[in-house]
Amino acid sequence: MKFLSYWHDTAPAFTGAAPGPVEGHYDVAVIGGGFTGLAAARQLAKAGAKVVVLEAERVGWGASGRNGGHLNNGLAHSYPAAKAELGKERAIALYKAFDASVDTIEALVAEEGIDCNFRRAGKLKLASKPKHFDAIARNFDEIHAEVDPDTALLSAADLASEVGSPFHGAMLYKKSGMMHMGRYAVGLAEAARRHGATIFERAAVTAQKHAGGRHQLTTARGSLSADNVLVATGAYTTANFGYFRRRIVTVGSFIIATRPLSATEIAATMPGNRTCVTSMNVGNYFRLSPDDRLIFGGRARFSAVSDHQSDAKGGAILKATLAEMFPQLASVEIDYCWGGLLDMTQDRYPRAGYHDGVWYAMGYSGHGAQISTHLGMILADAILGREDRNPMKGVDWPAIPGHFGKPWFLPLVGLYYKTLDRFQ
Ligand SMILES: Cc1cc2nc3c(=O)[nH]c(=O)nc-3n(C[C@H](O)[C@H](O)[C@H](O)COP(=O)(O)OP(=O)(O)OC[C@H]3O[C@@H](n4cnc5c(N)ncnc54)[C@H](O)[C@@H]3O)c2cc1C
Repeated sequence: MKFLSYWHDTAPAFTGAAPGPVEGHYDVAVIGGGFTGLAAARQLAKAGAKVVVLEAERVGWGASGRNGGHLNNGLAHSYPAAKAELGKERAIALYKAFDASVDTIEALVAEEGIDCNFRRAGKLKLASKPKHFDAIARNFDEIHAEVDPDTALLSAADLASEVGSPFHGAMLYKKSGMMHMGRYAVGLAEAARRHGATIFERAAVTAQKHAGGRHQLTTARGSLSADNVLVATGAYTTANFGYFRRRIVTVGSFIIATRPLSATEIAATMPGNRTCVTSMNVGNYFRLSPDDRLIFGGRARFSAVSDHQSDAKGGAILKATLAEMFPQLASVEIDYCWGGLLDMTQDRYPRAGYHDGVWYAMGYSGHGAQISTHLGMILADAILGREDRNPMKGVDWPAIPGHFGKPWFLPLVGLYYKTLDRFQ
């Protein structure tokens, strides 16, 4: 078994990183080479801006190259809850922004010729318990009537042709998609570079100053200045960005991938070939890979760490859960095990905007593979002085009380959600 992201292992290498020292002056410096930063850089460079990306590791190294591979439309929250929490108008705007983000990726992939297996597969939100189906049905009624007619409610019997495990019904989101996240990350970086962006890898920003309308960014490879800065560092935001660290809670999420399944095994487990998410608070997400592996993920354990040891522990829990959910795959070989960090906000809504001289988009809370590209482009447009289409503009983002970057309270949160799952 490889302790490595399947997406990283099966994507081509990005060969366009800039050599030499980090120096010079740019219109815009983007910190972070995940989907948010790369999409912003491409959009800015296309418009003729002089743009640089500073990435601490490699492009797509963070959550963008480690996720479950789902491009799900709509909200991860219940829509009635989102209306109550954000107000109806903003909840609809945010729902539609997630829808539009799948369209954005589809168009971008076509325009740039990125070979990343993009496919409108549809997403199933699966009811793990009978009473969860009632909540899913109430959510469906309001979504279908008000914001997304491309949805359907499926009974337990309907699921026979979808998933080979006894769930209690599901909601189908037909607009959702899937793709190869590693190939997309590299393709996006290549596209940004083709349009003129300079991309530095292994160039972590270790210090930043802002004076007289100019930003000075320091890395171990040199320093540069820029008129504008976009912080796109997500869950991997370093301690020198204290404002964001106090608002983001990093939580590990873990994934295993089986060996390629045979046609018979697929027919018995994932005949519908969609993205699937279960209804538990500490739930699971799964899909087939382009080469027919089952990519099976979940929170598994509440840890703020993703390293070899933590990923292996998460992987062992996931293997047991996989065997419970799909006994027909109980003894299947696991080829990959990896983990990554989620950038959770307290209310699990993303945040994007401008604070104290810098632009930012992050806090996608595990539902960001699609909106990251979209918000990256939206913020690029805002920097360029174009129409501001930010669906979260002006939403308050208070610091989390008692949180300074290391989530000491995570085991308690884990216990809370596991208890909820036992009784709800
Ligand atoms: C295990 C897992 C499963 C997930 N599954 C899904 C899914 O199926 N569907 C979904 O919608 N979402 C999913 N997500 C979330 C989704 O992947 C992220 O929301 C999205 O990729 C975030 O992109 P980003 O560009 O904002 O951040 P990232 O991709 O994390 O990029 C941030 C980059 O910033 C760099 N960086 C940090 N600090 C510095 C610094 N000081 N200087 C320079 N660079 C820096 C990091 O090295 C990193 O590469 C998942 C996430 C994980 C971890």
